Amino acid sequence: MAHILITGGAGFIGSHLCGKYLLRGDRVTAVDSFLTGSEENVARFSENKNFTLIRHDVSEPFPEIDKTDFVLHFACPASPVDFTRVPLEILRVDSLGTFNALELAKKDGARFLLASTSEVYGDPLVHPQTEDYWGNVNPTGLRSCYDEAKRFAEAATMVYLRKYEVNTGIVRIFNTYGPRMRLDDGRVVPNFCGQALRNEPLTVYGDGKQTRSFCFVDDLVDGIMRLVDSNEHGPVNIGNPDEHTILDFAKFVVEAVPGTRSRIEFVPLKFTDDPKQRRPVIARAQKLLGWNGPKVTLKEGIAKTLDYFRARL
Ligand code: UDP
Repeated sequence: MAHILITGGAGFIGSHLCGKYLLRGDRVTAVDSFLTGSEENVARFSENKNFTLIRHDVSEPFPEIDKTDFVLHFACPASPVDFTRVPLEILRVDSLGTFNALELAKKDGARFLLASTSEVYGDPLVHPQTEDYWGNVNPTGLRSCYDEAKRFAEAATMVYLRKYEVNTGIVRIFNTYGPRMRLDDGRVVPNFCGQALRNEPLTVYGDGKQTRSFCFVDDLVDGIMRLVDSNEHGPVNIGNPDEHTILDFAKFVVEAVPGTRSRIEFVPLKFTDDPKQRRPVIARAQKLLGWNGPKVTLKEGIAKTLDYFRARL
């Protein structure tokens, strides 16, 4: 039985990781400030004797914690809406928080995994994105609190690998969706699903020609767990190579909600530097981890996500 510490363990992806490790029989400690995480996401584990929840902001030094075998650093608000709402918290959790999590892994001799992001590629000029692309990031733009903070977190992680030989890994997570996303988190999947279920217009920002590639959370978690179990340092992209324009995705969601009276409404781009295209190359994950891409189709995944949101409306 391994002891896995997950920062952001009450968040969307973090709570799915908690569930999968508990199912495997491991011991899980979730650390969360509840800035964007939710009690509801982890309430389901409260009866499990292998689960511990610590309410703590990982930007502050960790409290006393039993020796860990794995430290998974997933704490960080991730919606563009958060980039204007809580930019300082994002900068702190990806800098100070990353140092605190790395220090814990160093002290315990644990393997460390950083949840990084496709945002490190910025508004990419290379398409699709391979891990050796250095990105096109505006260092002073509205998104920079997230993009640059995650790039800093990657740099810090690599220093702990090179200088202290901490066994680190970096996963670059592309757009992910599924149950336990917050309906009001502002990202495109909860927005469109919520709007279609409420018969409101689906707000397509700009001309809708920008693209994203959406991965269902179970598939992402499978890839992450493979990376944790390996000794690969990465970075490794995990995401869905199936790319859609946002306009096509809006039409897809409308079709997935039979009887909805929603139509599509074009509104001005909400955020500057909105990446125009995004699609992962997953050859590295295939080769190193045997992760062959998502198994859940967009149709199945959106149906499950809609069921989750429907129950909450
Ligand atoms: N988007 C949109 N309508 C919305 C929310 C988002 O058209 O109600 C677009 C947004 O401009 C971006 C894409 O959908 O091009 C994905 O946005 P999201 O906030 O989900 O995350 P991002 O991939 O930009 O981090």
